[in-house]
Amino acid sequence: MPQANLKLNAFPVFMRVEGEAVAIVGGGGEALAKARLISQSSALLRIITDAAEAELLAFIAATGAVHIAAAYDAAHLEGAAMVFAASGREALDRQVVEDARRLGIPVNAVDRPELCDFFTPALVNRAPVAIAIGTEGAGPVLAQMLRSRIDRMLSPSLGPLASLAASFRGAAERLLPKGNARRRFWSDFFAGAPARAVEEGQLSQAHDAAVDLLLSNAPASGHVALVGAGPGAEDLLTLRAHRLLMEADVIVYDALVPEAIVAMGRRDAERLPVGKRKGCHSKSQAEINELLVELGRAGKRVVRLKSGDPLVFGRAGEEMAALRDAGVAYDLVPGVTAAFAAAADFELPLTLRGVSSSMVFTTGHDLKGNSLPDWAKLAISGATVAVYMGRSVAAEVAGRLIEAGLSPDTAVAVVENASLASRRRFHGTLADLPSLEVRADLTGPVMTIIGDAVAGANFERSEPLAAHRHEGMASAAAEGVEE
Ligand code: SAH
Repeated sequence: MPQANLKLNAFPVFMRVEGEAVAIVGGGGEALAKARLISQSSALLRIITDAAEAELLAFIAATGAVHIAAAYDAAHLEGAAMVFAASGREALDRQVVEDARRLGIPVNAVDRPELCDFFTPALVNRAPVAIAIGTEGAGPVLAQMLRSRIDRMLSPSLGPLASLAASFRGAAERLLPKGNARRRFWSDFFAGAPARAVEEGQLSQAHDAAVDLLLSNAPASGHVALVGAGPGAEDLLTLRAHRLLMEADVIVYDALVPEAIVAMGRRDAERLPVGKRKGCHSKSQAEINELLVELGRAGKRVVRLKSGDPLVFGRAGEEMAALRDAGVAYDLVPGVTAAFAAAADFELPLTLRGVSSSMVFTTGHDLKGNSLPDWAKLAISGATVAVYMGRSVAAEVAGRLIEAGLSPDTAVAVVENASLASRRRFHGTLADLPSLEVRADLTGPVMTIIGDAVAGANFERSEPLAAHRHEGMASAAAEGVEE
């Protein structure tokens, strides 16, 4: 077993290259790769080769790099800030290394670490912010994997935000005393209103927000993000949701959001569960609204985490109204709604050419009145119907739809715990649906999809609902919301 070396053998630094020449010796793929890397900086590229391949020539033409089209000579390196020996020929690379060292210029020889004075990192570029990843001997595959992981974590707007920060540095230093006040300004700048405005592409608004912060006439910069956590699988969380979770001061979450997702939040974020699971104590919607307003007013960055999409049966409407009335800033992050996760689990086309071209999101809880709601008519005219919170009203839904004229043979797909490893799939017809209500074994959230498009689903991994058909008739299940 190799021992972990706790000391770095190469120490990362950022070298100033603006206006400096960087020399690359070589005409093939290695030279081109280095040229591309260096061209992310404002260094002046100098490429030395009398045997440039077509792709390198095109690169030179496109970027305006200096091309010394001659056989290599040590004099070509003069004045450069860095040198790359990238000819792919050992003898020549060695010569270049020797010459560079004699001239006092740091040199890198491609694929010959023993000849290198420095190594180039894998780079996450959000200019002016750069994250350089070095793995010493562990190899480029690891470096690239880390690079793409870090890249995903960082907002694309980090670059413009950092540029804006640079333009405020002088003013902040003049106007704010060193220490707490200045630190608070910068943390509000990078996590508060200026950052959010940049994220939305509103640069002048971001500038104004930063000025307000600087002159301390900004309101407490609390903010609530109503965030969709998706149907349950951790990796169905959006990158934006993940980023906000990592920046949150407080995470307010519903019972349907799995622990694993709540755990992805910032380690020291406060975590507040607010409900609502059948039979358990939970906060009322009014209490939740109040809590969000209170946290926002206290200047907290709040993530209000809801299962699926926050705008689908998520009571986001009431929360937004409360926040708006209280003057607390908020925004929305969509999530993968349960119907989409269930459809994917069943390989079920929600719209199907020639069969179904519209889709209904409903609860079925509105079927209890005397008049048939509009969506029932849509179902009869061929829409695909996704029923949320529909387990306890399954018999009602089936009965009323059949009564209204939908064929009892209409296909039905049911998924418990969609997207999760614990998912269970059932298929059948509208006539089988009432059995759902009395199945004590269905303890997770259940999504029901009804319509002719369901016939296009894959039933290889699902059990027939009909096995329990007779039980539905004796249904005495408690009414209520499953969430
Ligand atoms: N905002 C959520 C829905 C909240 S209502 C969304 O967009 O998905 C709660 C209902 O959603 C549950 O009763 C169930 O019908 C459905 N649901 C949520 N997660 C589910 C899952 N993983 N599998 C099946 N149904 C789910």
